[in-house]
Amino acid sequence: MFKRLFVANRGEVAARIVRACRELQIEVVCAASTADLKANFQYLQQADQVVCIGGSAPSASYLQLEQIVQAAKQTNCSALHPGWGFLAENSLFAALCEQHGISFIGPDAATMDMMALKVPARAAAMAAGLPVVPGSEGLLDSPTDAIRVANEVGYPVVLKADAGGGGRGIRRCDNDGEVSKAFADAAREAESAFGNAALYLEKYILGGRHIEFQVLGDGRGKAIHLGERECSIQRRHQKLLEEAPSPMLNSEQRANYGEMSARATAHWNYSGAGTIEYLLDEDGSLYFLEMNTRLQVEHPVSESITGIDLMQQQIIIAAGGSLPCTQDEVQLNGHAIELRVNAEDTDDDFRPTPGELTKFKINGNSIRFDTHLQAGDSVSPFYDSLLGKVIAHANTREQCIDMLVAAIDDADVEGVPTTLGLQRNILLNDDFKNARCDTLWLESFLGGNK
Ligand code: ADP
Ligand code: ADP
Ligand code: MG
Repeated sequence: MFKRLFVANRGEVAARIVRACRELQIEVVCAASTADLKANFQYLQQADQVVCIGGSAPSASYLQLEQIVQAAKQTNCSALHPGWGFLAENSLFAALCEQHGISFIGPDAATMDMMALKVPARAAAMAAGLPVVPGSEGLLDSPTDAIRVANEVGYPVVLKADAGGGGRGIRRCDNDGEVSKAFADAAREAESAFGNAALYLEKYILGGRHIEFQVLGDGRGKAIHLGERECSIQRRHQKLLEEAPSPMLNSEQRANYGEMSARATAHWNYSGAGTIEYLLDEDGSLYFLEMNTRLQVEHPVSESITGIDLMQQQIIIAAGGSLPCTQDEVQLNGHAIELRVNAEDTDDDFRPTPGELTKFKINGNSIRFDTHLQAGDSVSPFYDSLLGKVIAHANTREQCIDMLVAAIDDADVEGVPTTLGLQRNILLNDDFKNARCDTLWLESFLGGNK
């Protein structure tokens, strides 16, 4: 096992990594920007060492590949955890770590490359026997090319960024006119978000549900799946509430789709934790969307129902260890729902709301609260607005809903507006209670149509 690990991230995920290292008795060194150093969050106090890696803006600190690897080396760390966001899916960063003799917690750079862009990832998925959404075979040259492919595939379609992530560069189009209008727009958004304007196209799956399978591979051709999560409650293609298992799959579908996902993971000799994202259409067919070669924000719902600590397993596998169990030994118990609590004003187009959290307490029976913040801490304007995640685990979905509503009602959160009020309304909505929400439901609910 590693003796000392470097945390190349901040906030909630950094706190989660520190906790796993404590449990595995690994010393931990945390990176911090100047703003975070000043904030002196609890996880930074718990670390064995903290290294300032640069200025407050992500581009000056958490995105500085060289600086981070040097800091890890200088503090004698033999492993590095990238968390999610920032450099977590940057294969150059993974390769740089390995060049300097530091184990990158994640799959190798070649596997990350295979999944980094969507068009090659679709090809890798097909080669591993996964069904993909019907769409363009390669990149689109022009709006004319896009219109030609759209007519072959059939409307509605969706233009997507090859380098896409975080829901950016995605445009639904219902006819030729919309394709020619949206093409430049989507390319521009992709260029500014990812420095890569390349687009491709998929059939738009109507009434689709976002279903993703959690997989673990040992890098030597063995892999298991830990069931699925449903993340259809999205705003601008960003998840706001996630649950496991999905109310949409029966146990036969779960076993089949799960086996298919584990088989693909083994086929790729995948190492560590990964997520294969799919869309489930109204007929119950599943289509590959992308694979995220990292731990997911919503991983706690899978941890809750399987009893397997995914953050620990990621580290154990990177250290050369084996999978925690065989597929037959994986047991799914009960139901879990997670709320992503963001500092955002839901009445003002989800504007981020940095500021001081004067009160910050959320608890309840069987409620897990993953956060890096406590009362008195400030939410910085420099970073993601995620304050933390509230997770309920119980025998049934209904119990989870009741527990979360009670936790929100008892919560003591003051200082900045949060998404909790909206999440309470979602939990109490009949469509949600009856599991009738597709990926467009939340937008329509926000628009007053539900
Ligand atoms: P997931 O399926 O895990 O939610 P996302 O594509 O939403 O995947 O991105 C992962 C998460 O990483 C985001 O929700 C956000 O919290 C964080 N993230 C993404 N990009 C950045 C970034 N540039 N800086 C900081 N955090 C980021
Ligand atoms: P990202 O890398 O930005 O996360 P994804 O391919 O995972 O991109 O898609 C994000 C979300 O966009 C999905 O969860 C879904 O809501 C929507 N989406 C993507 N592709 C399609 C499609 N072909 N049909 C319908 N919705 C889609
Ligand atoms: Mg995605």
